[in-house]
Amino acid sequence: MTRIFNCLICGEFSFSLFCTKCKKLIKPEIKYNDDVVSFYNYENIEYLIKFKYKKFGNIVFKELSKPFGVFSKNYPGKLNIVPIDDKTYKGYSHTAILANAMKKDKKLYSTLHSQNNIKYAGKSLEFRLQNPRDFKYTGPENIDVVLIDDVVTTKTTLNEAKEVLKKHNVNVLFCLVLADLRR
Ligand SMILES: [Zn+2]
Repeated sequence: MTRIFNCLICGEFSFSLFCTKCKKLIKPEIKYNDDVVSFYNYENIEYLIKFKYKKFGNIVFKELSKPFGVFSKNYPGKLNIVPIDDKTYKGYSHTAILANAMKKDKKLYSTLHSQNNIKYAGKSLEFRLQNPRDFKYTGPENIDVVLIDDVVTTKTTLNEAKEVLKKHNVNVLFCLVLADLRR
């Protein structure tokens, strides 16, 4: 049976959740910025990231997670993957969905959680620095890991995560994210 949907981006009828035209918009464009690897231009997926915690959010993030899977497949060796703050909210965790795409790697789910629930979206660097996430790490020590997050705005979160991991002798090789807003 063929199902007909409305494209989540443009609303036109489509045979999948994204029409062929809009699928081109979410084409990955890999970028490297210091130790952060990002897979999309933020402008192209801004609308989709807003599905986080909303209806279809899990499906949207699964679609966006595809380049994480390709990266995993092509990377020589098996990585330890730590999704940042992968708490379940409304039935799923968006960073866990991104990590889950990395089939051949070892996922260390629920090992790096913030102990406060401050929302950082739209907040200044000053606010972010004054209100640390207060991460707690409960995973294995003395290993190399790869961090996973959705969007890098100022890198405050990644740096804070790295500091906490360092105390457990956990070394961050690099970070994988959907989009990096830094220029
Ligand atoms: Zn569309």
